[in-house]
Amino acid sequence: MMLRVGVNGYGTIGKRVADALAAQPDMTVSGVAKTTPNFEATAAHRRGYAVHAIDDAAAFAAADVPVAGDLDDLVAASDVVIDCTPAGIGAQNREIYEAHDTPALYQGGEDADVADASFNARANYDEIANGDAEHVRVVSCNTTGLSRVLTPLDEVYGVEKTRATLVRRGGDPSQSDRGPINDILPDPVTVPSHHGPDVNTVLPDLAVDTMGVTVPATLMHLHSVNVTLESDADADAVRETLADESRVFVVPEHARVAGPGHLKELAKDAGRPRGDLWENCVWGASIAVEGRDLYFFQAIHQESDVVPENVDAVRAIAGDADAAESVVRTNRALGVGR
Ligand code: NAD
Repeated sequence: MMLRVGVNGYGTIGKRVADALAAQPDMTVSGVAKTTPNFEATAAHRRGYAVHAIDDAAAFAAADVPVAGDLDDLVAASDVVIDCTPAGIGAQNREIYEAHDTPALYQGGEDADVADASFNARANYDEIANGDAEHVRVVSCNTTGLSRVLTPLDEVYGVEKTRATLVRRGGDPSQSDRGPINDILPDPVTVPSHHGPDVNTVLPDLAVDTMGVTVPATLMHLHSVNVTLESDADADAVRETLADESRVFVVPEHARVAGPGHLKELAKDAGRPRGDLWENCVWGASIAVEGRDLYFFQAIHQESDVVPENVDAVRAIAGDADAAESVVRTNRALGVGR
């Protein structure tokens, strides 16, 4: 079955999601919706996506971007809509999708209660596929990054307690209005941060405490993770457990990757679109075990790690494949893990 998927909001996440959908053998992009006829609208048109104007269609025509319709037309032409609008707008849009009886995905900037359930392919794909949720939130980049490693660690060793410090990029490369420019901010200053509870929206039984720090960087987030395991493990075994995960890249020591700058260069050298890193990047050399305490560093590419998760979430709510089939299909079409 060919699924027709519409993308509402064509910014950092939306443009990547649209390209990832277009690469799938079982999906087609029914169109994208934009508020402004900027350079991204022009790029969407040149990529062959039917551009829908949220309101001022004349402005799109004036910018030489042909308009295929409005948001209602896009939703009507879609089996599933992926809302990639800025945080908070998705919640306002839900009633539009409901009016068309069209299932929808939302992003991690929305509160969890925007949707009937939250989603991460590694943590709870089958639960979503076997349930009746039609409005599903794909969890944020940081939550995705934590869920992808905590799920296998819990399956293999049991997780008693996780403590993670998330060193967060100040903004995405295109966000010239974000910061800090020259500071290191406890963010939020209250402890624990909201990230642990967000992990619990997909992994409800795990004890996870998180702290956030925001720094003047745009490339990636960096997590310093400590997991107290329920059973003994050694560093080599944990390295293997994580390396077996298709969306975890255990960075080998010989690669001499010092930080996100090198990781982004590695992705560009590999010919990845937009230099994207869909996988968690765990430094193999950082994996250490003291008693039952596991430590490691991982970098998370905030602009792209949720992209394969959105593709899988479409199949989960459309009931089109089980978790293993969907993840393989998505990975193969995008080149995840290569
Ligand atoms: P963005 O600002 O880059 O893109 C949002 C797009 O939506 C823009 O093109 C904007 O013009 C458009 N838009 C604004 N109002 C709209 C409306 N009413 N209808 C349709 N489009 C509208 O934002 P983003 O970074 O892509 O974030 C989108 C969502 O994804 C947010 O919930 C965010 O929290 C989440 N998210 C972002 C990141 C990240 O690091 N960028 C990572 C994971 C999840």
